[in-house]
Amino acid sequence: MGRVIGIDLGTSNSCVAVVEDGRPIVIPNSGGYKITPSFFAVSPDGQQLVGYPARRQAITNAANTVFATKRLIGRRFGSAEVQRSMELYSYGIVEGPNEDPRIEIVDRTYTCAEVSGIILGEMKRIAEAYLGDSVEAAVITVPAYFNDTQRQSTRDAGRIAGLDVLRIINEPAAAALAYGMGRDAEEKIAIYDLGGGTFDMSILEMSDGVVEVLATAGDTFLGGEDFDRRIVEHLLAGFEEENGIDLRSDSTAMQRLKDAAEKAKCVLSLRDRTEINLPFIASDGGGARHLSCELRRDELEALVEDIVDETLRSVERCVRDSGLSNEDIDHVVVVGGQSRMPMVQQAVTDYFEQRPHKGVNPDEVVALGAAIQGSALVGGTQDVLLLDVTPLSLGISTYGGHFTRLIDRNTTVPVNKSHLFTTTRDDQAAVKIRVLQGENEVALENDLLGEFVLAGIPPAPKGEPEIEVSFDIDSSGIVSVSARDVATGMEQSITVNSKSTLSAEELELLIEENSLFDVEFKA
Ligand code: AMP
Repeated sequence: MGRVIGIDLGTSNSCVAVVEDGRPIVIPNSGGYKITPSFFAVSPDGQQLVGYPARRQAITNAANTVFATKRLIGRRFGSAEVQRSMELYSYGIVEGPNEDPRIEIVDRTYTCAEVSGIILGEMKRIAEAYLGDSVEAAVITVPAYFNDTQRQSTRDAGRIAGLDVLRIINEPAAAALAYGMGRDAEEKIAIYDLGGGTFDMSILEMSDGVVEVLATAGDTFLGGEDFDRRIVEHLLAGFEEENGIDLRSDSTAMQRLKDAAEKAKCVLSLRDRTEINLPFIASDGGGARHLSCELRRDELEALVEDIVDETLRSVERCVRDSGLSNEDIDHVVVVGGQSRMPMVQQAVTDYFEQRPHKGVNPDEVVALGAAIQGSALVGGTQDVLLLDVTPLSLGISTYGGHFTRLIDRNTTVPVNKSHLFTTTRDDQAAVKIRVLQGENEVALENDLLGEFVLAGIPPAPKGEPEIEVSFDIDSSGIVSVSARDVATGMEQSITVNSKSTLSAEELELLIEENSLFDVEFKA
């Protein structure tokens, strides 16, 4: 097998790395940048744009510029997160046939896996241009807190991009691999990863090249985008008060506001105050209206204080789940672009009573770790072993709507567990296995990953048949479930396929469609 690339598929930006001569390096894109915006657009003349070219025209082509699909992938259309995104983003989000959110822009409707596949395809091309060779295999990172559906959809995206996805690994674990490379000390480290769209917290133990995740916690809908949103809301309210105009329904104005908010936020990581100027943002009977105001760092901090506090609650839970206390943590590593904000750095410093480690680049460390894992999987980088955990408990729905756990959260993967279940009625011929992921005792409050029926159970009084349900989670965190009637040996098994992922036929079609445009790398 050729070279394996590591891809950090981020909400805001993506990054690709490879191991060369035993050392992981980040591959710059054709513009020389080490990160590429996770943006996709179709221009008015029908051209598909990816990365910087897509981002650059976002304001003038707001309705046809797609970003932050990582916040939508693997979710249900009706979920609160998707509904919130619909208010936030200027591109169209519609319900797909599998209850999944799909993206509607000028030329057609795209699945989220397809858009992510387009971004991954771009990262593949960046690597091929640098290596002068075609690339077939990759390790792709996801937030540790992604559930099975989100992982499977990301793997589908990789396949649509023409990549053999050797493994999906968690972003904090990847960061730990990169951080730990070349260090032989036995250390316990905390990784606080606040990116554009997601937040992950992990506690890991490292010794002799073995990285063992002890616990993980997080929120897949909390990140820099929410900080931007708070600034946008603040600006909208100020503008409406001054001018009596609500800009919410103007997609170009909203995109300009979002852009300005993000820029102001980044400036405020360096300075105490900044100016926001958006001329000709609206017009009415009185002529053109301009938005012009100052934003101070302390104002921004007040706007987002509760979001930062929310991350600390996950930190607390993660430390508790790891069985350690704050004093046991040797080093704290902060990852993800949003962690550059001084308030975030301070919150982490105060919590752990130590300054975060400064030696890693928060934008690059995850891709570097993915490349190390990729190289290790094909026998390139020796002496690296990653032992990760499943972020959420797994189980099935049982009589009375209870959630019966088979695998607890923070169990090391791969893992396989079985349990016996039985019928609740006399002569019951079939059982429905509803596979759930989450922490709630009430089954329906958790994520339904999928369901299947085991039929043909021979007549017997209730409580007598023995149905063995086995759960398997592989190293990528992907779940398979089987149910077996012990008496007859009859079995039903599935790789859990939630309704909101692509069906096998849809996926094959997309892979084929994409491969029609394949170009072979010319050395
Ligand atoms: P990532 O997903 O790790 O690429 O992080 C992207 C997020 O980090 C975006 O929301 C950016 O606005 C945010 N970000 C990048 N640089 C800074 C900075 N200097 N200060 C605050 N936020 C930043």
